[in-house]
Amino acid sequence: MKYVCPLCNGLYTVQRNCIKCNGSMDDQGAVVNYHDNYSPYLLDEITNNVDGVRKDQCLHLFRCTDCGFEESYAIQREIY
Ligand SMILES: [Zn+2]
Ligand SMILES: [Zn+2]
Repeated sequence: MKYVCPLCNGLYTVQRNCIKCNGSMDDQGAVVNYHDNYSPYLLDEITNNVDGVRKDQCLHLFRCTDCGFEESYAIQREIY
């Protein structure tokens, strides 16, 4: 049994609207992946905690296609 993020694994996409202009926001991927660029030596468990997000959630960065506003959003992982 393990937690799998449906967005990271392409199971489905989440539609978010921009709080600034109500435009559509695109999933830019997991925030953890961005952190990995700066801290390649951290273990998965540690990186998960860096964002202050629970292990069963995956923090994703969304960017508005209209105004460029960025917002992170915790995606609930699913158990497989
Ligand atoms: Zn994810
Ligand atoms: Zn916007």
